[in-house]
Amino acid sequence: MGDIAHSTITFDSLFARDFREMAIPWRAAEVPDPQLLVLNETLAGELGLDPAFLRSPAGLHLLTGNAVPGEATPVAQAYAGHQFGWYAPRLGDGRALLLGEIGHADGQLRDIHLKGSGPTPFARNGDGQAVIGPMLREYLVSEAMHALNIPTTRSLAVVATGRQVQRETLLPGAVLTRVASSHLRVGSFQYARSTGDLGLLRRLADYAITRHHQAAAEVGNPYLALLQAVVSAQASLVAQWMLVGFVHGVMNTDNMTISGETIDYGPCAFMDGFDPGVVFSSIDETGRYSYRSQPVVAEWNLARLAESLLPLLHEDQDQAVELAVEALAGFRQQYSAAWFAGMKAKLGFREGLGDDVTSPLVDELVALIQESKADYTSFFRNLGKAARGQSGPARGQVLDLSAFDDWAVRWYALAPDADAMDRVNPVYIPRNHLVEETLDAATAGNLGPLERFLAAVSSPFDERPGFSSYADAAPEGFGTYRTFCGT
Ligand code: AMP
Ligand code: MG
Repeated sequence: MGDIAHSTITFDSLFARDFREMAIPWRAAEVPDPQLLVLNETLAGELGLDPAFLRSPAGLHLLTGNAVPGEATPVAQAYAGHQFGWYAPRLGDGRALLLGEIGHADGQLRDIHLKGSGPTPFARNGDGQAVIGPMLREYLVSEAMHALNIPTTRSLAVVATGRQVQRETLLPGAVLTRVASSHLRVGSFQYARSTGDLGLLRRLADYAITRHHQAAAEVGNPYLALLQAVVSAQASLVAQWMLVGFVHGVMNTDNMTISGETIDYGPCAFMDGFDPGVVFSSIDETGRYSYRSQPVVAEWNLARLAESLLPLLHEDQDQAVELAVEALAGFRQQYSAAWFAGMKAKLGFREGLGDDVTSPLVDELVALIQESKADYTSFFRNLGKAARGQSGPARGQVLDLSAFDDWAVRWYALAPDADAMDRVNPVYIPRNHLVEETLDAATAGNLGPLERFLAAVSSPFDERPGFSSYADAAPEGFGTYRTFCGT
């Protein structure tokens, strides 16, 4: 691995230096023929990185981990995790490397992380590779989530490696550069706890507080405050997923962050017709990670975090458990409050209306669109049109017209704010049928559709001429959508 001379990029190696028990220094696999597929110039700018440099041969070597600045120490991070409920004591980055941390314009640090950079000691039987389609999928969906104002890891670039990778067929390989507030996961704490080294656990918790939840350092029991802060961040995050119809698909504890950012875009999808039981992932046979299960699963995962933190919460184990249970109890209340507030915004309710008025209207509408299996995203956008007096499109999406009419009379009486609705109900989301088409085209070498799709979902609330096909529901024949992990 060569050094990058004359580069102005300086990486910190905070995790690599301070968590040697959980960080294996490692090198990326050599990339024979790097070709840039997509670069996030805006994000590069926020990170103080020069897009022209990133596009240069030296930049591509950085984005594939083949040449990093001399002071950088790329590492594979160790973590454990419950996968579909089963505990795996040693997962870790099997095909990924943390290059280090750099500063963002907002004054906070970001992890710069490569996915698909070759096998590490955590690869088990995996090949350490990633392929173009799934890496562009993460880029597209994570950038769409960011534009929807939902906390998420970001995507800086996808670089094709020139290597063929064996999947069901031979597919072109790629490396994604992921940018995250950190890669600390619930599974990171499970791993630290499992070592029995309380000093390590405490250092990890201190690091999480410094990186994400600084206010926790100011109170009497900082580790309890850390747990409460993660509970709050996840309650808010999952509520936002539910409000836009996002199904993560693989909410294992290693795929849940301490920062409260969405991470790991594998089998995720946005639902089309409203169906609370919907599951997209081909391996999720029991529906563990269905749309409606997400809040319950998040709470379950947070209980695993709480267990890992117990020795830090109180020296007396019974009292530690009591504190943990109390902190976890905050999840339901905070999740429900965030979801209800979000629904009131989606319906354009003005400030000051009582819950006794708004709550039945929210519940009735949800029942109505569920019974009608209405296209979730376009229904709410059409409701904005209804607030302007054009009720036809939304009305046309429900089955029980008299129930809708009765509902609409009471809703109109509250003078819903159509402009406010348009600021929270997106027109453009990464619709499944278009995601598949776009990634197939990109894999075949045509990046034009991806660029247009990115333009649509990067301003999701701003309806523009020429983009109408991105707003349309899936065609009749699209059928049941299936997504895949391990890609
Ligand atoms: P994920 O389902 O992406 O969250 O990954 C779960 C675990 O499998 C993580 O430890 C990954 O690093 C590992 N993994 C996934 N795909 C591969 C691969 N192709 N090669 C090596 N490890 C992998
Ligand atoms: Mg993962």
